[in-house]
Amino acid sequence: MKILVINAGSSSLKYQLIDMENESLLAKGLCERIGIDGRLTHKPQNGKASFEQDMPFPTHKEAIEAVLDKLVSAEYGVVDSMQEIGAVGHRVLHGGIKFTKSCLVDDACEAAIKECFPLGPLHNPANLMGIKACQAVMPGTPQVAVFDTSFGMDMAPKAYMYALPYEYYEKDSLRRYGFHGTSHRFVSARAVEMFGNDENLRVINCHLGNGSSVSASIGGKCVDTSMGLTPLAGVPMGTRSGDCDPAILQFIMNKYGYSVDEMLTIMNKKSGVLGLSGVSSDFRDLESAYKEGNERAGLALDKFAYEVKKYVGSYIAALGGVDVLTFTAGVGENSSTMRARICDGLECFGIKMSSERNDVHGEEALISADDSKVKVYVIPTNEELMIARDTKAIVDAL
Ligand code: AMP
Repeated sequence: MKILVINAGSSSLKYQLIDMENESLLAKGLCERIGIDGRLTHKPQNGKASFEQDMPFPTHKEAIEAVLDKLVSAEYGVVDSMQEIGAVGHRVLHGGIKFTKSCLVDDACEAAIKECFPLGPLHNPANLMGIKACQAVMPGTPQVAVFDTSFGMDMAPKAYMYALPYEYYEKDSLRRYGFHGTSHRFVSARAVEMFGNDENLRVINCHLGNGSSVSASIGGKCVDTSMGLTPLAGVPMGTRSGDCDPAILQFIMNKYGYSVDEMLTIMNKKSGVLGLSGVSSDFRDLESAYKEGNERAGLALDKFAYEVKKYVGSYIAALGGVDVLTFTAGVGENSSTMRARICDGLECFGIKMSSERNDVHGEEALISADDSKVKVYVIPTNEELMIARDTKAIVDAL
């Protein structure tokens, strides 16, 4: 079965076509500037040329039509006809408390995605637009929703509840949900698979990219995760503050006369390693600036590593120990210096990095020393493949 994986944003749509016979990538691409003008970048993986051109995308429907056109075209295509595409898997940010697992898109599922608009105001409406566009262009092809929040649904109340008046949970479903769930699920499942499907395997996964989060799981089931009701919580990120004393908001807003929206823009877009360094949100820029002697770039890198390290320590406490520590996403997979900074000082917990093995970029590898009690791995994430696997499992069971 070939599965089309869609990640629809408000003005963009990323896609991958995956052959589930051998889980190989057939093509991938990106539609940009939907609703503005439009641009398609299509990259077949079968040796055919890439396609990149401006084209009008008034809505997501025209974007999907253009994607399908390229997937079957003689010049850029990878399949003979649309009938070869057995199902579509959609990344959906928020499933709320009702949707604990991926599900076939039906009326109830669509209603739940809509109900969660207030919880995922930027993403859920766009995700639903992607679903609607595929339904219009591929009628009869099963559509599956894979929620980024479903990994966090295994957490116990003591982990997901906020110590706020209980009514906000009861009336408004305010709780920790966690994000990057599909990535955490993929990496922790891979670790469990590597250790003979050990249901008791305690894994701490550091998803470190432009957005970053840390999760703790046992046998692939989430025990805790650092993002919260929204992706603003947890460790500092490229531009997001991460955890912060809530009273700071009141101080800044009163002093500078900011509205709630203005304050949240500061916390989401101007903070994190960008805000601290004044240099960049990109970790490669920070590492270069630090090498050239920029002290604030050094501070940003230090702060990031320190906060991730603290999460690792607190999750060792939450899990009662740890068997495997994993690093994934742009920074986690590629930055040996950041991995070394984070692991430095964790020897007391049985985490001992091998500097030789740590010299690895973007591929699965063991990076701990032979005498490290805890195994440390780089495991490249693959959210699209996780979405395709869920989609196949649901469609196979129909
Ligand atoms: P992601 O959000 O997972 O795509 O990760 C993006 C982040 O990964 C950016 O901040 C990049 O600077 C960072 N990144 C990618 N490659 C490297 C590298 N070789 N060294 C350090 N950071 C990297």
